[in-house]
Amino acid sequence: MKLFDVYPLYPIELVRAQGSTVWDKHGQEYVDLYGGHAVISIGHSHPTYVARMSEQLNHIGFYSNSIIISGQEALAEKLGRLSGYPSYTLFLTNSGAESNENALKLASFHTGRKKVIAFTKAFHGRTAGAVAVTDNPSIVAPINSTEHVTFLPFNQIDGLEKITEEHAAVIVEGVQGVGGIQVASDAFLQALRKRCDETGAQLILDSVQCGYGRSGKFFSHQYAGIHPDMMTTAKGMGNGFPMGGVLIAPHIQANYGLLGTTFGGNHLACVAGNVVLDVIEEEQLVQNAEKIGDYISKSLANIQGVTEVRGRGLMIGIELDQPVGPVRDALLFEEHIFCGYAGKSTLRLLPSLAMDLKIADRFLESLESVLKH
Ligand code: PLP
Repeated sequence: MKLFDVYPLYPIELVRAQGSTVWDKHGQEYVDLYGGHAVISIGHSHPTYVARMSEQLNHIGFYSNSIIISGQEALAEKLGRLSGYPSYTLFLTNSGAESNENALKLASFHTGRKKVIAFTKAFHGRTAGAVAVTDNPSIVAPINSTEHVTFLPFNQIDGLEKITEEHAAVIVEGVQGVGGIQVASDAFLQALRKRCDETGAQLILDSVQCGYGRSGKFFSHQYAGIHPDMMTTAKGMGNGFPMGGVLIAPHIQANYGLLGTTFGGNHLACVAGNVVLDVIEEEQLVQNAEKIGDYISKSLANIQGVTEVRGRGLMIGIELDQPVGPVRDALLFEEHIFCGYAGKSTLRLLPSLAMDLKIADRFLESLESVLKH
């Protein structure tokens, strides 16, 4: 059997990783500023992570949600405390799309309504509901296309009166990732909160990419001082172990059977999730993301060929005066640095929150040299 061929691949096979460094099978070393797409939050193969995950496997790796898994409560308590949402409840999932899917369902159950507002250039995942609120017709199959979703212009306050008592939810990324690292302005998020309060629509902040400390605050919407009705997470939550979550405001009530999952919140996932939060707290990684992110963003402004720098913390979009493809390839194959991209001319950095100034300087020098070619 062959693989279903949906991913264009770089001819690189990675066999080892540590912190912000990865090695291919020929021993070539690379700096990883992509984090496997914002997933590596505390650094590759963090020693505490490796020790606690390995130890857990010697005890019990998995059992379903039909028994007590105390790691779930520990994770919920820690996440509530570190994120500033101790009164919210947590539903554990396996991915970002699944988190958004469940948040949309909860909004619909809670309000009894069907319609949803999403925004231009949004990306929320590929499952039925998540892809229906994603602004990319090429990945929406006919079965997922629905008249229940209306897309409004991102970051535009005029027109938000189109959110009405018919809407179950408004879903928005605090910083659009796939859309090119576009930061939702404080005023826009505050206007969304106000309009949702007026209409009863539930405000969902998709924090799958911009959450978990990446923005320099635990959640990027905290710059705007708003409280969403739900936040969705995944990616950095497990530092590579597939897991996600929905943080749910106290007015949304649970009842048995309302939501469910086989794998979500299993023993191994809980260890991954708990270690990530322990390390984020002990190593002050949210503060580090703010500090190193600021340093990179300010330094980038002095590099010729960079026309705009967007983002927050260690979620950085670098707008170039030339196509991003060749720049990204030169960084990878000549400078041995992994970066992401968005659109035609945006380089995207989504590194480990533990990256340091030395790596930042190495990247800045490499980018400057590649852009001089
Ligand atoms: N939401 C956002 C903002 C994302 O960036 C992504 C993935 O890139 C998703 C949702 C989907 O997450 P997953 O691929 O884990 O389903």
